[in-house]
Amino acid sequence: MQLLLGKKILITGIISKLSIAYGIAKAMYNNKAELIFTYQKKKNKKRVEKLVKNMTKYPIIKCDVSKDHNIKFLFVQISKFWNKFHGFVHSIAFVPKNQLKGSFIENTSRKGFQIAHDISSYSLTAMVKECRFMLYPKSSIVSLSYLGSNRVIPNYNVMGLAKASLEANIRYIAYDIGKQNIRINGISSSPIKTLASSGINNFDYILKFYKKITPLSYQITINDIGNVAVFLCSDLSCGITGEIIHVDGGFNLIGINKK
Ligand code: NAD
Repeated sequence: MQLLLGKKILITGIISKLSIAYGIAKAMYNNKAELIFTYQKKKNKKRVEKLVKNMTKYPIIKCDVSKDHNIKFLFVQISKFWNKFHGFVHSIAFVPKNQLKGSFIENTSRKGFQIAHDISSYSLTAMVKECRFMLYPKSSIVSLSYLGSNRVIPNYNVMGLAKASLEANIRYIAYDIGKQNIRINGISSSPIKTLASSGINNFDYILKFYKKITPLSYQITINDIGNVAVFLCSDLSCGITGEIIHVDGGFNLIGINKK
């Protein structure tokens, strides 16, 4: 299909072929988007380059979102290729591993709290701030969230708070940027094994639990998330902004399951 024909889209957050952003990239590429990619750390550059080389004609750009000057640099670099573009995918989250286990109260530190919110939520605001005047009307921004934002998921702990912040962030940005006819939405994804999720203590138990309870007897993949991201960046979704769309096979609907 060609749902993104003529659209120029920036994709952040690829670190491996398991990355949700990689699924999004493949779906966007297959729908004819023109893509630019970022990588976080110098040591990951070659790896990311190898993954995306067939999907872009542009060099990949370094951007560690914990640094304002990196975010500035990213859009200066992009402006060398694109005067304006049609949106971006924010597929970034981080918290030190020691925050993702055991008791929320005992294990959450001030530093852990700050890092989780800075990297996983504020970075979205910072990116929009820096590029909003480079975005065409009808552009679309997509970020990735998780149900831990409004339900208690053992071990997810402070990341749940950061995702709650991210989702509120999406609504406030949607309000501000709507005047430019630009949209922003979140996809709340099913748990999927990736480098980030493997940092969550007992993640395999979460996967098993989902399998037992989810209405759709089908394991959501990064390709499914990619297809929804394509829809959200296409003109088909022109009336949707500030939403968090669950792509979780209906897991979030369940109160009590059958014995
Ligand atoms: P991943 O490990 O493949 O991707 C996480 C990405 O975040 C990596 O590319 C990493 O480089 C990037 N990142 C971390 N800190 C950064 C920084 N300072 N600057 C720039 N980039 C940074 O894992 P993923 O599961 O694909 O995660 C992508 C998004 O999806 C995250 O927001 C995550 O919370 C969300 N999500 C994941 C799941 C899941 O089960 N995998 C479920 C729901 C939501």
